[in-house]
Amino acid sequence: MDLGSLSENKVAFFSTQPYDKTFFNKYNESGFELDFFETQLNPQTATLIQECAIVCVFVNDIVNEAVIKQLAEKNVKIIALRCAGFNNVDLEAAKKYNLKVCRVPAYSPQAVAEHAMAMILTLNRKTHKAYNRVREQNFSLNGLLGFDLFGKTIGIIGTGNIGKAFAKIALGFGCKVVAYDIITDPEMEKDGIVFTDLKTIFKESDIISLHCPLNEQTKHLINKNAITLMKNHVMIINTSRGGLIETASVIEGLKEGKIGYLGIDVYEQEEKLFFRDLSADIIQDDAIQRLMSFPNVLVTAHQAFFTNEALTQIALVTFDNIKSLLLENDIKNKAALLV
Ligand code: NAD
Repeated sequence: MDLGSLSENKVAFFSTQPYDKTFFNKYNESGFELDFFETQLNPQTATLIQECAIVCVFVNDIVNEAVIKQLAEKNVKIIALRCAGFNNVDLEAAKKYNLKVCRVPAYSPQAVAEHAMAMILTLNRKTHKAYNRVREQNFSLNGLLGFDLFGKTIGIIGTGNIGKAFAKIALGFGCKVVAYDIITDPEMEKDGIVFTDLKTIFKESDIISLHCPLNEQTKHLINKNAITLMKNHVMIINTSRGGLIETASVIEGLKEGKIGYLGIDVYEQEEKLFFRDLSADIIQDDAIQRLMSFPNVLVTAHQAFFTNEALTQIALVTFDNIKSLLLENDIKNKAALLV
């Protein structure tokens, strides 16, 4: 890749947290110069980039056409996502301005799948409440009644890397697993997973777990119509992307008691909230406040990926992607190269 006079050794990171610095510094075996910005990338902050051909972004950075145009004017050549999802990047604009875009397609599917199961177990057995209760010397079990997972039907939407790992965990608990994906997976069928249509998933599942990407087809997949089809007291788990759920409809479903449990690691408006300590602030987002007020809703702040193994892979693969693009203008793992 011809970088002209620009330093091919410099990478500008946006939305940087202390753990990003730790892992990227630790695995920087090629000696890249790393410029860490805590701020999100957006049309205003793009001006921070100087003499740099590579920009590294995360889930809530704004990489729309306005930002990409600015990056191109600054001679940025590579946008390296240090995550799997890429719904925040305008790929058409990247093509138009001749920028390469890469991602980390499967850094640790188990990390996210295990977190989805942790949310199910917590919501079901109410361990978060039990923890607080015994600390107050309240050893009563009233209100903590759960159900056996064994024999229940879990519906999985999206059976890629994470959905597949989650299905294996669900099978291990003795659940019946039904799945919907635009591509059927014969190996999963051999394991006893039944592929079916979306309506059947909604109608038959005791628990629905979302593992598909956010795109035009999947936006607000969980809406009023879908909720109407679901079983009473259904549990919905979303560790994928907030936009898969129409928040107002889910709040209605919770108020009516139709939805019995909701576990979300992602939220449609999360970019204004997540990855920050806002404990002294007045939150202006009424929908998240309403969600957090329900006793049967568990919110985690996009932490499903957050394991030692995942952060190690993210750093290693991101550096590999960048090196491959610089040296060969290509990446062997086709799933990693978006443009
Ligand atoms: P993947 O690409 O391996 O799998 C996605 C699956 O969704 C594929 O099998 C694909 O065919 C399917 N799919 C695409 N369109 C669909 C549709 N309209 N309906 C049903 N299925 C559809 O991706 P993955 O690694 O399994 O990740 C899944 C999602 O999880 C990512 O897109 C990302 O948004 C999210 N994620 C969240 C975290 C977190 O920390 N919470 C971490 C990593 C990934």
